[in-house]
Amino acid sequence: RSVLRLYGDARPAVRFDSGQALLLRDQHGWTAIIGIPLEQEAPGTLRASVSAPGISDYDVIVDVRSNRYAEQRLNVDRKYVEPSAEQLERIAAERRIIDSALTAVRAVDVANLQMSAPVGGRRSSSFGLRRFFNDQPRAPHKGMDIAAVAGTPVVAPLSGVVTERGNFYFNGNTVVIDHGQGFISLYCHLSEILAQPGQEISAGTVLGKVGATGRVTGAHLHFATYLNGTAVDPA
Ligand code: ZN
Repeated sequence: RSVLRLYGDARPAVRFDSGQALLLRDQHGWTAIIGIPLEQEAPGTLRASVSAPGISDYDVIVDVRSNRYAEQRLNVDRKYVEPSAEQLERIAAERRIIDSALTAVRAVDVANLQMSAPVGGRRSSSFGLRRFFNDQPRAPHKGMDIAAVAGTPVVAPLSGVVTERGNFYFNGNTVVIDHGQGFISLYCHLSEILAQPGQEISAGTVLGKVGATGRVTGAHLHFATYLNGTAVDPA
């Protein structure tokens, strides 16, 4: 995650090759926040272009430094590691639905990014873990896992609109909330979903219940946050 401070009253636009930055207003100006993909080759740089009324556009070069994430090895049902052709087809179709929900950009003001925990419980600092399922390498872990008893209510940590809900192969029962400007949150492995598509929710609204659906080793909430279509650490 990269943070860029911009001074002045006029609302700027901050663009980079893969999207537009989220902007937060404060008393001195604006803060632009850009999600950097876990897969990004680092170290390197990211060029962001800033435009604002009354000034010439200018570029900002952001340094991207590397971070070494730990490894995690898990054992799950074989169907989650070597899916059949039919299951692969389902996974690909679901990938398109989920990607579309995670890359939405709603042009509304975002007051802040302060989220309360969607459920109480032990939080593993698991974002970015390089994962092996049944000893086979898979994509890094793109969220925070919170251990909680199955059936515990999961609440929205911030207001937004429910844009997707459903049962997905890896994620199990899932809810997606759009908070605006490409800031999206995802809640997976629920035992039950209690939110409706299109529903406007406020912080504290119950979204569903903790469960163990999809690719899991036990009941927990997989809580993930996205900026410009890129997973960023909820912590
Ligand atoms: Zn997880």
